[in-house]
Amino acid sequence: MDITDELRAYREKDIPYSRVLSSMCTIPHPIALEAHSMFIETNLGDPGIFRGTLELEKKLMEMLGKILHCDNPAGYICSGGTEANIQGIRAARNIQRSKNKPNIVIPETAHFSFEKIGDILGVEIRRAGIDEEYRVEVGMVERLIDDSTVAIVGIAGTTELGQIDPIVELSKLAEERGIELHVDAAFGGLVIPFMDDPYPFDFQNKGVSSITIDPHKMGMATIPAGGIVFRSEKYLRALEVETPYLTSKAQFTLTGTRPGTGVASAYAVLKHLGFDGMKEVVNKCLDNTRLLVEEMMSLGFEPVIEPIMNVVAFPADDAERLKEELYRRNWVISTIRNPRAIRFVIMPHVTEEVIKSFISDFRKIVGR
Ligand SMILES: *Cc1c(COP(=O)(O)O)cnc(C)c1O
Repeated sequence: MDITDELRAYREKDIPYSRVLSSMCTIPHPIALEAHSMFIETNLGDPGIFRGTLELEKKLMEMLGKILHCDNPAGYICSGGTEANIQGIRAARNIQRSKNKPNIVIPETAHFSFEKIGDILGVEIRRAGIDEEYRVEVGMVERLIDDSTVAIVGIAGTTELGQIDPIVELSKLAEERGIELHVDAAFGGLVIPFMDDPYPFDFQNKGVSSITIDPHKMGMATIPAGGIVFRSEKYLRALEVETPYLTSKAQFTLTGTRPGTGVASAYAVLKHLGFDGMKEVVNKCLDNTRLLVEEMMSLGFEPVIEPIMNVVAFPADDAERLKEELYRRNWVISTIRNPRAIRFVIMPHVTEEVIKSFISDFRKIVGR
């Protein structure tokens, strides 16, 4: 068999995005594909060679800085939200180096990447509880902070419910205590700024030190394209190691060799769509989320919380069984454990037609 036929056969076993209602990734924008293929050979791990790509990354960081209300953004495009979170916390720990047995305080609803962070960085992870709206309890965060706390974490768009933590209050707390505040906006970072009346989750709060914002989610860039943005250069300095045989003197990234494809594809999409184009994409996703909620309510399902963004979950005791039956019919949804619920992410590929077709199959499964 021809190699490409062989590859195609494997690829055809993958489930197409049009059947996936659980992923925070989506079909890349056509302009992202074009940009990706133009930069396929690039390696930002050796920036003296790929100086044009490096310049483009700087321009993209300025764009992200503008979206996040930061005048002098420092950071880079990385492998994803996991690496961005690792680097945010690593910078915080290094800046607050003097502290013995460092710890961080995160919301109970934080992404599982923080498990890895605790293990890799050797920082103790303290989990603060949440209120009835699934936002972190600021009072609880405050009680968990002690002299060894290097950072607190807020989430702008929780992975499970799309909820936004009270970043304004967390920022005041971080300022008062002289510690870092990392905001995990891996998903929400390219949703909230384009919503009507957006919640102020970003650098406009003086206590915010770093933000995770992933172009390979709602930015419709090609994978991998995560983003870490710091308030200033000093955080990058805290991450540097010397690089003896490369074209650069020092490296602040976690990975060495890294692609320029994410930079090019993310830049292309943001430049092509502009603020208004992004707003249109986000609004469409929010409209479609409302459509799904209406359809689900007509089948007797109520959302866990009124959706803030294009993520929504519906309590169901038999969530696992529903997920499995749907998977058998080639539909992918996800489940969450607290509360036991079925969860949906309404990405740009989840169109009105996809929702209608899903509901018609789902109706058969629940027998309504
Ligand atoms: C998706 C997500 C991550 C992890 O991002 P990856 O790109 O999968 O590494 C981290 N935090 C939040 C809030 C996310 O939604």
